[in-house]
Parts: sequence; structure tokens; C-alpha cells
Amino acid sequence: MPVPSVIMLQQFVKLDFKPNSKRKLSLLRPSRGSIFARDNNTCQYCGSPATTLDHIVPKSKGGQHSWENLVAACSSCNKKKGSRLLSDMRDDKFKLMDKPKHPGPWNIMRLRLLAQAPKDGSWLRFFG
Ligand SMILES: [Zn+2]
Repeated sequence: MPVPSVIMLQQFVKLDFKPNSKRKLSLLRPSRGSIFARDNNTCQYCGSPATTLDHIVPKSKGGQHSWENLVAACSSCNKKKGSRLLSDMRDDKFKLMDKPKHPGPWNIMRLRLLAQAPKDGSWLRFFG
């Protein structure tokens, strides 16, 4: 049976999570897919297609799994940076194109949808 890749929302039931509940907090945590969607699948150091996730401040140096500390990166840049801080890089040109930001709750939902959307682009005209 054919299954549609796009459906139209006709009724919206708002699910209210308790403020600061564990469920709400886990929805706000960045996932690999949502970081890639936020960064447009682009390496935030050189602009090449991204294939890896980089902790700007490495986990070994106390870096958090947060929206502000994670960026999409190509494997070449990720390997070049290794577990160093950006301030420890010898190459002055090796820097972030933009400072990564927390996208806010509504954009997080958008990024999660983008991360899970079909790759054929059939849904694009429904998504502003
Ligand atoms: Zn790169």
C-alpha cells in the first residue's frame, strides 16, 4: 500500500509539558541530526559538506553536549582540530564561520523535523 510522505495537519492538540520536566529538557537537548540541520549540513570551519559532529571545547577539557558547544564539521577539520581548543590551534585561519547558538524551543522542533524529513525533498513546499 503506498504511504504518503507528506500529510496535512488539520487539528493541533497542544501537549503541555510541566516546566523543567525531564521530558521537556530532553526534547531541548541537541541531537546529531538537529545540529546538522541547524548548521545546514555544512562544516562550520571550512564550509565543506559535514560528516561529523565536533565539540568546540573537547569533552576531555570539560566541553558540554550543548547547542553552543557542538557544530557540524567535515572529517578533515575534525581530525585537524583533534582534542584541542580553538585557541590552541597553530593555524590562525582555523576558526568558526559563525558562533553556534541555541535555536530556541520552536526552532528545535523545526530542526528535529528537518532531521527526520524524507531526503527526497517532497515535503519542502509545505515547510516555510
Ligand atoms: Zn571542514
